[in-house]
Amino acid sequence: MKALVIKEFGGPLLSEDVPVPQPEPDEALVRVKACAVDQFDLTIRDGKFPTAKTPIILGHEIAGVVEAVGANVDNVKPGDRVTSTLYLTCGRCRYCVTGRETICADFKGYIGIHTPGAYAEYTTIPAVNLVKLPESIPFAEASVIANAIGTPYHALTKRAKVQPGERVIVTGAGGGVGTHAIQLAKMMGAFVMAVDIGEEKLALARELGADVTFDASREDFSTTAREWTNSEGVEVVLELVGTKTFESSLKSLARGGRMVIVGSHTGTTLSASPQAMIANEWEILGSRNVTKRELTEVVALVAAGRIKPIVTGTYPLEEAEALHQRLRKQEIIGRVVLEP
Ligand SMILES: [Zn+2]
Repeated sequence: MKALVIKEFGGPLLSEDVPVPQPEPDEALVRVKACAVDQFDLTIRDGKFPTAKTPIILGHEIAGVVEAVGANVDNVKPGDRVTSTLYLTCGRCRYCVTGRETICADFKGYIGIHTPGAYAEYTTIPAVNLVKLPESIPFAEASVIANAIGTPYHALTKRAKVQPGERVIVTGAGGGVGTHAIQLAKMMGAFVMAVDIGEEKLALARELGADVTFDASREDFSTTAREWTNSEGVEVVLELVGTKTFESSLKSLARGGRMVIVGSHTGTTLSASPQAMIANEWEILGSRNVTKRELTEVVALVAAGRIKPIVTGTYPLEEAEALHQRLRKQEIIGRVVLEP
């Protein structure tokens, strides 16, 4: 089969002919129909993910068709359309058995890092990770569900617990996660201020329901956030950018406000005043991806047309290098998808 292989971190994506993998007893072999591309791929490729090892086949946002299954697999069968959660979890620890498997205490790693990913025609995936897809969701749209929609779904519903009428800032609103975060927050009855750089991204944010947009290339967005909320500040910030926007995000929070941190690609440290944290009873929360149960909920929302996957282009595997370059320059709006 054709696959894009990274032989050394920082090196090229090499198009190679490699053997089709064989599923282990608990795995399914999946014919990859779509694999979305995201910033995390660049982090891995650049050698900035500590436990990653070469050679490596990237690709963790997957949709495809089950081709074959291992001897122990009975939850999916050949011909099933599927997507997958991203994490390899133990299934036995206290977090796994209480529905919080993304913080598994015996975490085994990531699909597309610690197992070969879907920048390839086929991949093997633990069957426990797979969620079936209805016929009505095209593969390209399905490939963005687990991460680009699932991540903000978990962050907004389980971590921020957004309530109707609350005001929510989404930073990095024009990207893959942000465009779906806007839709989800609106679906939950919140008012949304979308922050990103460039009019094209902000126009899409408005189209998706953002009540206010702010071009972050101008200045600190907290002034606008205060104006928008009669000086009160916002109840929730969904922080998809990280260090770069953290100060403005914090200055935008209302008393009792919650900030959920999802993005970390612009730095490794955050600083906050403990006095301000105490005086305002701010909550700063981390949020990690999406559980399998939540993924089934998100698939249902997409199938019902409540959330529209934002796929702004589909490309053959050969285009992956060019897509990575555009991603590096922050040029990609929504998600782009490879179709191996
Ligand atoms: Zn576990």
